[in-house]
Amino acid sequence: MDPRSCPVCGTAFGSDWWLLGRYVAGGEPVATHVCPGCTLAWTGRPWFRVDAGYRARVCSRDAAVLLEGDDGRIAPGPAEHRQAVAAARTADLERAFAAVHSHRRLRVLQIGARDPSWLTAARRGRRVNAMAVEPWAPWAQAARAVDIEVHQRPLEGWRRRGSFDLIVEHDVLPHLCEPMPHLQAIAARLAPQGVALIEVPNLLQATGAAAQDILTTGRPFWYTPRALVTACKRAGLAPFQLAADERLRVWCRPSAPLAVTASGPSAEDVVETVGGNDLRLHLKRALFRMGATPAAMQLAATIHGRCSRAPVRADLAIEIATACERSSDLDGAAYWLEVSLRDRADVDVARTLATLQAVRRRVQSMWIELPAANGPMSSAPLRLVS
Ligand SMILES: [Zn+2]
Repeated sequence: MDPRSCPVCGTAFGSDWWLLGRYVAGGEPVATHVCPGCTLAWTGRPWFRVDAGYRARVCSRDAAVLLEGDDGRIAPGPAEHRQAVAAARTADLERAFAAVHSHRRLRVLQIGARDPSWLTAARRGRRVNAMAVEPWAPWAQAARAVDIEVHQRPLEGWRRRGSFDLIVEHDVLPHLCEPMPHLQAIAARLAPQGVALIEVPNLLQATGAAAQDILTTGRPFWYTPRALVTACKRAGLAPFQLAADERLRVWCRPSAPLAVTASGPSAEDVVETVGGNDLRLHLKRALFRMGATPAAMQLAATIHGRCSRAPVRADLAIEIATACERSSDLDGAAYWLEVSLRDRADVDVARTLATLQAVRRRVQSMWIELPAANGPMSSAPLRLVS
C-alpha cells in the first residue's frame, strides 16, 4: 500500500509533489518525492507495520558516523570521529537535562537501545531511573549487559504505565511508516515539565550522493528541519530548541497538538539543495579520478558556468580548487577559491586563500632570489677546459 497523503501534514500525494531522485531497489528504480506542504521526503517504500519499521533500523547505518573521503567515497569515519559523534550526543543530552524541571529522581526513557551510551552517560554522576524500549533482541541484550533495564517492545505497543521526565531517541522516526502515532506516544509519556530529545538524520546536510548513499530502502522517510518541527507540533510536542547539522535534533515539551506547518525552505529548495550536493560530489569524484588535467578543468569550468545557484557554484569552485591544489597548481587553486568567495562569503575559504597566497608569494620570491639554471649567463668569460 502507498501513502495517499503525507503522514505529517496530510497533503494529498499528487503531481505537485517534487521528485527528489530515483534509487535502485531490487533492480527497479524507485522514486523519492518531497511533500510540497511540509517538505517530508518519502522514499517510495511499500507501507509496512510498526514492528517491521523498528526491524528496518537493524539494516541501516548510523548516518551521523559517515564521512566523505578525499576521493568522494562515503564510509564510516575513524574511531575519533565516532567518539566525537558520541560526545556531541552526550552534550545534547546534557542540554535536555538542563531543561528538565523536577525535584525528584529523574525518570529517563530511551527509545531504541542500539547505542546505550546515552543512558550510561545519563546515569553518570546522577541519580536517575533509566530504562529503554528496544524490540530487537540482540540490541536489547547488549543494553542489558551494561545494566540497563530494557523492555523488548516498540513504544507504540508498550503497555507499562507511567510518565518520564526525559525521553530520548535517535534515528527511530525515519524508519516508521506512521511517524505521527509514534510522536503522539512520546507526547503521552512525557511528564508535564518533561523534555523529549528527538534526533533524525538531516536530509539537507546528509553525507553522500542521494541515489547511491542516502535514499535507500532503510528509511521510508527523510526529514528536513521544517518537516520534523511540523510533525512534532502536530503530535503534541512543542519544540523549544532546534539544532541542525548532519544530525537534526529538537528538544520539545508536551503541549496541545497544533495543526500548523512550520516555516522554512520550500520543497523546491530542498530538491535543489540535494541536487546541488549531488552535482558537487559527482564533480569531486570525477576530478579525483581524472586529476586536474586540462580536459578535466575544462569540463569542471563548463559545469560551474552552467550552474545557476550561487551556493552550489561556491561548493563546486571549492572542489575545483582542491583538485588544483592536489596537482600543485597553486595559481589555479587561488583563482577558484576567489571564484567561490564571489558567490558566498566564508571565513574558512578566505583563510585558506590567504594561506595559499602567502605560499605563492614565497615561492615567487624564491624563484627571483635563486640563481636560475636557465637564467642570464654569467659575465665571467667562458674558458674551454684544457
Ligand atoms: Zn507533508
